[in-house]
Amino acid sequence: MSENTKIPYKIYLSEDEIPKQWYNVRADMKNKPAPLLNPATMKPMSFDDLRPVFCDELIKQELDDTTAYIDIPDEIRNFYKMYRPAPLVRAYCLEKALGTPAKIYYKFEGNNTSGSHKLNSAIVQAYYAKKQGLKGVTTETGAGQWGTALSMASAYLGIDCKVYMVKVSYEQKPFRREVMRTYGASVTPSPSMDTEIGRKINAEHPGTTGSLGCAISEAVEVATKTEGYRYVLGSVLNQVLLHQTVIGLEAKAALDKYGITPDIIIGCAGGGSNLGGLISPFMGEKLRGEKDYQIIAIEPASCPSLTRGKFAYDFCDTGMVCPLAKMYTLGSNFIPSANHAGGLRYHGMSPILSQLYHDGYMEARSVEQTAVFEAAEQFARVEGILPAPESSHAIKAAIDEALKCKETGEEKTILFGLTGTGYFDMVAYQKFNDGEMSDYIPTDEELEKSFATLPKVNI
Ligand SMILES: *Cc1c(COP(=O)(O)O)cnc(C)c1O
Repeated sequence: MSENTKIPYKIYLSEDEIPKQWYNVRADMKNKPAPLLNPATMKPMSFDDLRPVFCDELIKQELDDTTAYIDIPDEIRNFYKMYRPAPLVRAYCLEKALGTPAKIYYKFEGNNTSGSHKLNSAIVQAYYAKKQGLKGVTTETGAGQWGTALSMASAYLGIDCKVYMVKVSYEQKPFRREVMRTYGASVTPSPSMDTEIGRKINAEHPGTTGSLGCAISEAVEVATKTEGYRYVLGSVLNQVLLHQTVIGLEAKAALDKYGITPDIIIGCAGGGSNLGGLISPFMGEKLRGEKDYQIIAIEPASCPSLTRGKFAYDFCDTGMVCPLAKMYTLGSNFIPSANHAGGLRYHGMSPILSQLYHDGYMEARSVEQTAVFEAAEQFARVEGILPAPESSHAIKAAIDEALKCKETGEEKTILFGLTGTGYFDMVAYQKFNDGEMSDYIPTDEELEKSFATLPKVNI
Protein backbone atom coordinates (compact mmCIF):
# COMPACT_ATOMS: atom_id res chain seq x y z
CA MET A 1 0.00 0.00 0.00
CA SER A 2 1.54 3.34 -0.99
CA GLU A 3 2.04 6.15 1.49
CA ASN A 4 -0.56 8.21 -0.30
CA THR A 5 -3.37 5.70 -0.18
CA LYS A 6 -6.21 7.49 1.49
CA ILE A 7 -7.63 5.53 4.38
CA PRO A 8 -11.45 5.71 4.22
CA TYR A 9 -13.52 6.99 7.13
CA LYS A 10 -14.90 3.50 7.55
CA ILE A 11 -13.07 0.33 6.68
CA TYR A 12 -15.73 -2.25 5.98
CA LEU A 13 -15.18 -5.94 5.49
CA SER A 14 -17.48 -8.09 3.38
CA GLU A 15 -19.83 -10.67 4.90
CA ASP A 16 -17.42 -13.39 3.80
CA GLU A 17 -14.73 -11.80 5.90
CA ILE A 18 -16.65 -12.30 9.16
CA PRO A 19 -14.31 -14.65 11.06
CA LYS A 20 -14.95 -18.37 10.54
CA GLN A 21 -13.15 -19.27 13.78
CA TRP A 22 -12.70 -17.68 17.17
CA TYR A 23 -9.13 -17.31 18.40
CA ASN A 24 -8.36 -18.75 21.82
CA VAL A 25 -5.48 -16.66 23.21
CA ARG A 26 -4.94 -19.17 26.06
CA ALA A 27 -3.30 -21.48 23.52
CA ASP A 28 -0.40 -19.00 23.23
CA MET A 29 -0.13 -18.13 26.94
CA LYS A 30 2.80 -19.71 28.76
CA ASN A 31 1.15 -19.08 32.11
CA LYS A 32 -2.42 -20.26 31.66
CA PRO A 33 -5.23 -18.60 33.63
CA ALA A 34 -5.78 -20.43 36.91
CA PRO A 35 -8.66 -22.97 36.93
CA LEU A 36 -12.07 -22.21 38.42
CA LEU A 37 -12.51 -23.79 41.85
CA ASN A 38 -15.50 -25.66 43.19
CA PRO A 39 -16.77 -23.63 46.20
CA ALA A 40 -17.72 -26.83 48.04
CA THR A 41 -14.39 -28.66 47.71
CA MET A 42 -11.95 -25.90 46.67
CA LYS A 43 -10.73 -28.27 43.95
CA PRO A 44 -10.56 -27.29 40.25
CA MET A 45 -13.97 -27.49 38.59
CA SER A 46 -14.25 -30.50 36.30
CA PHE A 47 -16.50 -30.85 33.25
CA ASP A 48 -18.99 -32.82 35.36
CA ASP A 49 -18.95 -30.25 38.19
CA LEU A 50 -19.98 -27.56 35.73
CA ARG A 51 -22.70 -29.53 33.92
CA PRO A 52 -25.63 -28.59 36.18
CA VAL A 53 -24.90 -24.90 35.57
CA PHE A 54 -23.59 -24.45 32.02
CA CYS A 55 -24.22 -26.02 28.57
CA ASP A 56 -21.84 -28.83 27.64
CA GLU A 57 -20.26 -27.20 24.59
CA LEU A 58 -19.65 -23.98 26.52
CA ILE A 59 -17.97 -25.92 29.34
CA LYS A 60 -15.61 -27.46 26.77
CA GLN A 61 -14.73 -23.97 25.56
CA GLU A 62 -14.34 -22.76 29.14
CA LEU A 63 -11.84 -25.48 30.00
CA ASP A 64 -9.92 -25.52 26.70
CA ASP A 65 -6.49 -23.92 27.21
CA THR A 66 -4.84 -25.43 24.14
CA THR A 67 -6.96 -25.23 20.95
CA ALA A 68 -5.95 -21.99 19.21
CA TYR A 69 -8.83 -21.78 16.73
CA ILE A 70 -12.40 -22.91 17.32
CA ASP A 71 -14.93 -23.06 14.46
CA ILE A 72 -17.88 -20.67 14.52
CA PRO A 73 -21.01 -22.64 13.51
CA ASP A 74 -22.70 -21.37 10.32
CA GLU A 75 -25.94 -20.61 12.16
CA ILE A 76 -24.06 -18.20 14.43
CA ARG A 77 -22.22 -16.62 11.50
CA ASN A 78 -25.58 -16.09 9.80
CA PHE A 79 -26.86 -14.25 12.86
CA TYR A 80 -23.65 -12.20 12.96
CA LYS A 81 -24.42 -11.14 9.38
CA MET A 82 -27.45 -9.17 10.59
CA TYR A 83 -25.18 -6.64 12.31
CA ARG A 84 -21.60 -7.54 11.42
CA PRO A 85 -18.96 -6.98 10.21
CA ALA A 86 -18.80 -4.00 12.56
CA PRO A 87 -17.14 -0.96 11.01
CA LEU A 88 -13.63 0.15 11.86
CA VAL A 89 -13.75 3.92 11.82
CA ARG A 90 -10.88 6.33 11.29
CA ALA A 91 -11.63 9.19 13.68
CA TYR A 92 -10.55 11.92 11.27
CA CYS A 93 -12.90 14.46 12.85
CA LEU A 94 -11.64 13.79 16.36
CA GLU A 95 -8.01 13.95 15.21
CA LYS A 96 -8.70 17.33 13.62
CA ALA A 97 -10.49 18.67 16.69
CA LEU A 98 -7.57 17.60 18.89
CA GLY A 99 -4.95 18.88 16.44
CA THR A 100 -2.98 15.69 16.93
CA PRO A 101 -0.60 13.98 14.51
CA ALA A 102 -1.80 10.65 15.97
CA LYS A 103 -4.01 8.41 13.84
CA ILE A 104 -7.04 7.21 15.75
CA TYR A 105 -9.21 4.22 14.85
CA TYR A 106 -12.14 2.76 16.71
CA LYS A 107 -14.03 -0.49 16.32
CA PHE A 108 -17.74 0.30 16.75
CA GLU A 109 -19.86 -2.43 18.34
CA GLY A 110 -23.03 -0.40 18.97
CA ASN A 111 -24.79 -1.13 15.67
CA ASN A 112 -27.45 -3.49 17.00
CA THR A 113 -30.56 -3.07 19.15
CA SER A 114 -28.85 -4.25 22.34
CA GLY A 115 -26.48 -1.34 21.74
CA SER A 116 -23.28 -3.16 22.67
CA HIS A 117 -20.83 -5.96 21.91
CA LYS A 118 -22.69 -8.31 24.28
CA LEU A 119 -24.79 -9.76 21.46
CA ASN A 120 -21.61 -11.42 20.07
CA SER A 121 -21.58 -13.85 22.99
CA ALA A 122 -25.33 -13.94 23.76
CA ILE A 123 -26.09 -15.59 20.42
CA VAL A 124 -23.40 -18.22 20.97
CA GLN A 125 -24.59 -19.15 24.44
CA ALA A 126 -28.25 -19.30 23.36
CA TYR A 127 -27.26 -21.36 20.31
CA TYR A 128 -25.48 -24.07 22.32
CA ALA A 129 -28.36 -24.17 24.82
CA LYS A 130 -30.81 -24.76 21.98
CA LYS A 131 -28.53 -27.33 20.35
CA GLN A 132 -28.41 -29.26 23.61
CA GLY A 133 -32.21 -29.43 23.50
CA LEU A 134 -32.73 -27.12 26.46
CA LYS A 135 -35.90 -25.10 27.00
CA GLY A 136 -34.27 -21.91 28.12
CA VAL A 137 -31.60 -19.90 29.87
CA THR A 138 -31.42 -17.72 32.97
CA THR A 139 -29.20 -14.79 33.68
CA GLU A 140 -28.80 -11.57 35.64
CA THR A 141 -28.51 -8.07 34.35
CA GLY A 142 -27.50 -4.84 36.01
CA ALA A 143 -27.70 -1.89 33.68
CA GLY A 144 -29.56 -4.09 31.19
CA GLN A 145 -27.27 -4.43 28.16
CA TRP A 146 -26.54 -8.11 28.71
CA GLY A 147 -30.18 -8.97 29.45
CA THR A 148 -31.23 -7.19 26.26
CA ALA A 149 -28.63 -9.01 24.17
CA LEU A 150 -29.65 -12.38 25.59
CA SER A 151 -33.36 -11.63 25.03
CA MET A 152 -32.65 -10.87 21.38
CA ALA A 153 -30.62 -14.04 20.89
CA SER A 154 -33.20 -16.21 22.69
CA ALA A 155 -36.07 -14.78 20.65
CA TYR A 156 -34.18 -15.49 17.42
CA LEU A 157 -33.64 -19.11 18.40
CA GLY A 158 -37.04 -19.62 20.01
CA ILE A 159 -35.88 -20.52 23.53
CA ASP A 160 -37.10 -19.07 26.82
CA CYS A 161 -35.09 -16.38 28.61
CA LYS A 162 -35.49 -15.50 32.30
CA VAL A 163 -33.68 -12.35 33.40
CA TYR A 164 -33.09 -11.36 37.02
CA MET A 165 -32.62 -7.62 36.96
CA VAL A 166 -31.12 -5.73 39.90
CA LYS A 167 -34.19 -4.12 41.50
CA VAL A 168 -32.88 -0.57 41.45
CA SER A 169 -32.24 -0.80 37.70
CA TYR A 170 -35.59 -2.52 37.12
CA GLU A 171 -37.28 0.52 38.64
CA GLN A 172 -34.97 3.20 37.25
CA LYS A 173 -34.51 1.80 33.75
CA PRO A 174 -38.02 0.92 32.60
CA PHE A 175 -37.05 1.28 28.94
CA ARG A 176 -34.35 -1.41 29.09
CA ARG A 177 -36.81 -3.66 30.88
CA GLU A 178 -39.45 -3.12 28.18
CA VAL A 179 -36.97 -3.86 25.37
CA MET A 180 -36.27 -7.23 27.01
CA ARG A 181 -40.00 -7.95 27.36
CA THR A 182 -40.55 -6.93 23.76
CA TYR A 183 -38.10 -9.67 22.80
CA GLY A 184 -40.12 -12.12 24.89
CA ALA A 185 -37.97 -12.42 28.01
CA SER A 186 -39.44 -12.54 31.50
CA VAL A 187 -37.83 -9.90 33.68
CA THR A 188 -37.93 -10.27 37.48
CA PRO A 189 -36.65 -7.64 39.91
CA SER A 190 -33.95 -9.08 42.16
CA PRO A 191 -33.99 -9.97 44.99
CA SER A 192 -37.31 -11.66 44.25
CA MET A 193 -39.52 -13.97 46.31
CA ASP A 194 -39.17 -16.76 43.67
CA THR A 195 -35.91 -18.17 44.98
CA GLU A 196 -34.55 -19.36 48.29
CA ILE A 197 -31.64 -16.94 48.15
CA GLY A 198 -33.97 -14.07 47.14
CA ARG A 199 -36.34 -14.76 50.05
CA LYS A 200 -33.36 -14.97 52.43
CA ILE A 201 -31.90 -11.68 51.25
CA ASN A 202 -35.31 -9.96 51.39
CA ALA A 203 -35.81 -11.22 54.95
CA GLU A 204 -32.35 -10.10 56.07
CA HIS A 205 -32.42 -6.76 54.27
CA PRO A 206 -36.03 -5.58 53.96
CA GLY A 207 -36.43 -3.00 51.19
CA THR A 208 -33.03 -3.76 49.61
CA THR A 209 -32.63 -2.57 46.02
CA GLY A 210 -30.43 -5.54 45.13
CA SER A 211 -27.00 -6.05 43.64
CA LEU A 212 -25.45 -7.82 40.68
CA GLY A 213 -23.93 -10.50 42.91
CA CYS A 214 -27.34 -11.26 44.39
CA ALA A 215 -29.05 -11.42 40.98
CA ILE A 216 -26.38 -13.89 39.81
CA SER A 217 -27.11 -16.14 42.78
CA GLU A 218 -30.84 -16.08 41.96
CA ALA A 219 -30.33 -16.82 38.26
CA VAL A 220 -28.00 -19.74 39.08
CA GLU A 221 -30.48 -21.15 41.59
CA VAL A 222 -33.34 -21.05 39.06
CA ALA A 223 -31.20 -22.65 36.34
CA THR A 224 -30.05 -25.52 38.53
CA LYS A 225 -33.53 -26.18 39.95
CA THR A 226 -35.55 -25.93 36.72
CA GLU A 227 -35.59 -28.89 34.33
CA GLY A 228 -34.17 -27.94 30.92
CA TYR A 229 -32.54 -24.66 31.93
CA ARG A 230 -28.94 -23.50 32.22
CA TYR A 231 -27.31 -20.31 33.41
CA VAL A 232 -25.38 -17.98 31.09
CA LEU A 233 -23.04 -15.10 31.92
CA GLY A 234 -22.18 -12.04 29.83
CA SER A 235 -18.54 -11.41 30.74
CA VAL A 236 -15.55 -12.54 32.83
CA LEU A 237 -15.58 -16.21 31.74
CA ASN A 238 -13.01 -17.58 29.27
CA GLN A 239 -15.77 -18.66 26.85
CA VAL A 240 -17.15 -15.11 26.67
CA LEU A 241 -13.72 -13.68 25.84
CA LEU A 242 -13.39 -16.33 23.17
CA HIS A 243 -16.69 -15.32 21.51
CA GLN A 244 -15.74 -11.66 21.66
CA THR A 245 -12.59 -12.27 19.62
CA VAL A 246 -14.73 -11.57 16.54
CA ILE A 247 -14.13 -7.91 17.48
CA GLY A 248 -10.35 -8.16 17.37
CA LEU A 249 -10.20 -10.52 14.39
CA GLU A 250 -12.34 -8.17 12.30
CA ALA A 251 -10.40 -5.11 13.46
CA LYS A 252 -7.11 -6.75 12.56
CA ALA A 253 -8.38 -7.90 9.15
CA ALA A 254 -9.55 -4.35 8.37
CA LEU A 255 -6.23 -2.80 9.46
CA ASP A 256 -4.25 -5.41 7.53
CA LYS A 257 -6.07 -4.41 4.33
CA TYR A 258 -4.34 -1.05 4.49
CA GLY A 259 -1.12 -2.26 6.05
CA ILE A 260 -1.83 -0.41 9.30
CA THR A 261 -0.20 -1.58 12.54
CA PRO A 262 -1.48 0.00 15.75
CA ASP A 263 1.06 1.18 18.32
CA ILE A 264 -1.45 1.46 21.15
CA ILE A 265 -4.62 -0.59 21.74
CA ILE A 266 -7.11 0.65 24.33
CA GLY A 267 -10.33 -0.77 25.75
CA CYS A 268 -12.60 -0.26 28.74
CA ALA A 269 -12.59 -3.10 31.24
CA GLY A 270 -15.52 -4.20 33.40
CA GLY A 271 -15.36 -7.99 33.38
CA GLY A 272 -12.87 -7.84 30.53
CA SER A 273 -14.78 -9.40 27.63
CA ASN A 274 -14.67 -6.61 25.03
CA LEU A 275 -11.08 -5.74 25.82
CA GLY A 276 -10.05 -9.38 25.77
CA GLY A 277 -11.85 -9.89 22.47
CA LEU A 278 -10.35 -6.79 20.88
CA ILE A 279 -6.77 -7.49 21.91
CA SER A 280 -6.65 -11.29 21.55
CA PRO A 281 -5.23 -11.54 18.00
CA PHE A 282 -2.74 -8.75 18.72
CA MET A 283 -1.83 -10.28 22.08
CA GLY A 284 -1.27 -13.60 20.30
CA GLU A 285 1.39 -11.98 18.14
CA LYS A 286 2.93 -10.39 21.21
CA LEU A 287 2.95 -13.69 23.13
CA ARG A 288 4.56 -15.49 20.18
CA GLY A 289 7.21 -12.76 19.99
CA GLU A 290 6.18 -11.66 16.48
CA LYS A 291 5.15 -8.08 17.24
CA ASP A 292 4.83 -5.67 20.12
CA TYR A 293 1.92 -3.47 21.06
CA GLN A 294 1.16 -1.19 23.99
CA ILE A 295 -2.12 -2.49 25.38
CA ILE A 296 -4.06 -0.49 27.96
CA ALA A 297 -7.12 -1.47 30.03
CA ILE A 298 -9.21 1.44 31.31
CA GLU A 299 -11.39 1.08 34.37
CA PRO A 300 -13.42 3.48 36.53
CA ALA A 301 -11.59 5.00 39.50
CA SER A 302 -14.64 4.00 41.57
CA CYS A 303 -14.21 0.29 40.75
CA PRO A 304 -10.47 -0.20 40.14
CA SER A 305 -9.98 -3.98 40.12
CA LEU A 306 -6.79 -4.10 38.02
CA THR A 307 -5.11 -0.95 39.31
CA ARG A 308 -5.88 -1.41 43.02
CA GLY A 309 -7.25 -4.94 43.43
CA LYS A 310 -5.55 -8.12 44.64
CA PHE A 311 -4.64 -11.05 42.36
CA ALA A 312 -6.32 -13.80 44.32
CA TYR A 313 -9.02 -16.45 44.27
CA ASP A 314 -12.40 -14.92 44.96
CA PHE A 315 -16.09 -15.64 44.61
CA CYS A 316 -17.78 -14.45 41.43
CA ASP A 317 -21.06 -13.67 43.22
CA THR A 318 -22.17 -12.44 46.65
CA GLY A 319 -24.22 -15.58 47.34
CA MET A 320 -20.98 -17.61 47.01
CA VAL A 321 -22.72 -20.31 44.97
CA CYS A 322 -20.64 -19.79 41.80
CA PRO A 323 -17.13 -21.18 41.29
CA LEU A 324 -14.15 -19.19 42.55
CA ALA A 325 -11.88 -17.53 40.01
CA LYS A 326 -8.30 -16.32 40.37
CA MET A 327 -8.44 -12.75 39.23
CA TYR A 328 -7.74 -9.17 40.14
CA THR A 329 -10.55 -8.49 42.57
CA LEU A 330 -11.79 -5.88 45.01
CA GLY A 331 -13.55 -8.60 47.02
CA SER A 332 -16.97 -10.09 46.24
CA ASN A 333 -18.52 -7.87 48.94
CA PHE A 334 -17.24 -4.70 47.35
CA ILE A 335 -20.13 -2.45 46.31
CA PRO A 336 -18.84 0.36 44.11
CA SER A 337 -20.28 3.84 44.58
CA ALA A 338 -23.09 4.80 42.25
CA ASN A 339 -21.08 5.50 39.12
CA HIS A 340 -22.89 5.67 35.82
CA ALA A 341 -20.99 3.06 33.87
CA GLY A 342 -23.14 0.12 35.00
CA GLY A 343 -21.20 -2.34 32.85
CA LEU A 344 -17.94 -1.54 34.64
CA ARG A 345 -19.13 -2.09 38.19
CA TYR A 346 -18.02 -5.70 38.63
CA HIS A 347 -15.67 -6.47 41.55
CA GLY A 348 -13.43 -8.88 39.58
CA MET A 349 -11.77 -9.20 36.19
CA SER A 350 -11.45 -11.92 33.56
CA PRO A 351 -8.90 -14.57 34.69
CA ILE A 352 -7.27 -14.41 31.23
CA LEU A 353 -6.74 -10.65 31.36
CA SER A 354 -5.74 -10.86 35.03
CA GLN A 355 -2.97 -13.35 34.19
CA LEU A 356 -1.76 -11.30 31.19
CA TYR A 357 -1.70 -8.15 33.30
CA HIS A 358 0.09 -9.96 36.11
CA ASP A 359 2.71 -11.19 33.63
CA GLY A 360 3.31 -7.67 32.31
CA TYR A 361 1.74 -8.02 28.85
CA MET A 362 -0.62 -5.10 29.36
CA GLU A 363 -1.10 -1.93 31.39
CA ALA A 364 -4.09 -0.60 33.28
CA ARG A 365 -5.27 2.88 34.20
CA SER A 366 -8.25 4.22 36.03
CA VAL A 367 -10.19 7.34 35.15
CA GLU A 368 -12.77 9.44 37.00
CA GLN A 369 -16.29 9.68 35.68
CA THR A 370 -16.57 13.44 35.15
CA ALA A 371 -13.47 13.29 32.94
CA VAL A 372 -15.05 10.33 31.14
CA PHE A 373 -18.24 12.27 30.38
CA GLU A 374 -16.21 15.27 29.19
CA ALA A 375 -14.48 12.97 26.72
CA ALA A 376 -17.83 11.40 25.77
CA GLU A 377 -19.35 14.76 24.88
CA GLN A 378 -16.28 15.89 23.00
CA PHE A 379 -16.40 12.67 20.98
CA ALA A 380 -20.18 12.84 20.36
CA ARG A 381 -19.94 16.39 19.05
CA VAL A 382 -17.29 15.63 16.44
CA GLU A 383 -17.76 11.94 15.58
CA GLY A 384 -21.56 11.89 15.81
CA ILE A 385 -22.00 8.68 17.80
CA LEU A 386 -23.47 9.06 21.30
CA PRO A 387 -21.17 6.73 23.26
CA ALA A 388 -22.08 4.52 26.22
CA PRO A 389 -20.50 5.69 29.49
CA GLU A 390 -18.54 2.41 29.62
CA SER A 391 -17.10 2.93 26.14
CA SER A 392 -16.24 6.52 27.00
CA HIS A 393 -13.57 5.29 29.39
CA ALA A 394 -11.65 4.11 26.33
CA ILE A 395 -12.38 7.38 24.50
CA LYS A 396 -10.89 9.33 27.40
CA ALA A 397 -7.66 7.33 27.30
CA ALA A 398 -7.43 7.51 23.49
CA ILE A 399 -7.77 11.31 23.66
CA ASP A 400 -5.10 11.47 26.38
CA GLU A 401 -2.70 9.44 24.23
CA ALA A 402 -3.46 11.54 21.14
CA LEU A 403 -2.74 14.72 23.11
CA LYS A 404 0.59 13.27 24.25
CA CYS A 405 1.45 12.78 20.56
CA LYS A 406 0.56 16.42 19.96
CA GLU A 407 3.22 17.41 22.51
CA THR A 408 5.91 15.08 21.24
CA GLY A 409 5.01 15.23 17.54
CA GLU A 410 4.86 11.44 17.35
CA GLU A 411 2.47 10.02 14.73
CA LYS A 412 1.33 7.02 16.71
CA THR A 413 -1.55 4.84 15.57
CA ILE A 414 -4.15 4.33 18.27
CA LEU A 415 -6.90 1.70 18.14
CA PHE A 416 -9.68 1.66 20.70
CA GLY A 417 -12.88 -0.28 21.26
CA LEU A 418 -16.12 1.70 21.12
CA THR A 419 -18.32 -0.89 22.76
CA GLY A 420 -21.73 0.70 22.52
CA THR A 421 -24.20 3.55 22.44
CA GLY A 422 -25.55 5.55 25.36
CA TYR A 423 -29.22 6.16 24.46
CA PHE A 424 -30.38 4.49 27.68
CA ASP A 425 -27.93 6.47 29.79
CA MET A 426 -29.43 9.91 29.40
CA VAL A 427 -30.00 10.31 33.14
CA ALA A 428 -26.23 10.08 33.55
CA TYR A 429 -25.68 12.60 30.77
CA GLN A 430 -28.29 14.82 32.39
CA LYS A 431 -26.41 14.73 35.71
CA PHE A 432 -23.21 15.62 33.92
CA ASN A 433 -24.84 18.45 31.95
CA ASP A 434 -26.39 19.85 35.13
CA GLY A 435 -23.01 19.76 36.90
CA GLU A 436 -24.31 17.27 39.45
CA MET A 437 -21.90 14.44 38.75
CA SER A 438 -19.28 13.64 41.36
CA ASP A 439 -16.20 11.43 41.46
CA TYR A 440 -16.03 8.93 44.25
CA ILE A 441 -12.81 7.03 44.74
CA PRO A 442 -12.71 4.32 47.42
CA THR A 443 -10.17 4.87 50.20
CA ASP A 444 -7.40 2.35 50.99
CA GLU A 445 -9.21 1.58 54.25
CA GLU A 446 -12.41 0.68 52.41
CA LEU A 447 -10.51 -1.61 50.06
CA GLU A 448 -8.60 -3.23 52.93
CA LYS A 449 -11.91 -3.98 54.65
CA SER A 450 -13.13 -5.70 51.53
CA PHE A 451 -9.84 -7.60 50.98
CA ALA A 452 -10.13 -8.96 54.51
CA THR A 453 -13.15 -10.99 53.36
CA LEU A 454 -11.29 -12.74 50.51
CA PRO A 455 -11.53 -16.52 50.92
CA LYS A 456 -8.40 -18.31 52.11
CA VAL A 457 -7.40 -20.72 49.37
CA ASN A 458 -4.38 -22.99 49.46
CA ILE A 459 -3.63 -23.95 45.88
C1 LIG B 1 -21.07 -4.60 29.51
C2 LIG B 1 -20.43 -3.49 28.79
C3 LIG B 1 -19.05 -3.20 28.95
C4 LIG B 1 -18.16 -3.93 29.89
O1 LIG B 1 -18.10 -5.30 29.80
P1 LIG B 1 -16.75 -6.07 29.46
O2 LIG B 1 -17.07 -7.48 29.70
O3 LIG B 1 -15.67 -5.54 30.35
O4 LIG B 1 -16.46 -5.79 28.04
C5 LIG B 1 -18.50 -2.18 28.20
N1 LIG B 1 -19.24 -1.44 27.37
C6 LIG B 1 -20.57 -1.67 27.20
C7 LIG B 1 -21.33 -0.80 26.26
C8 LIG B 1 -21.18 -2.70 27.90
O5 LIG B 1 -22.50 -2.93 27.74
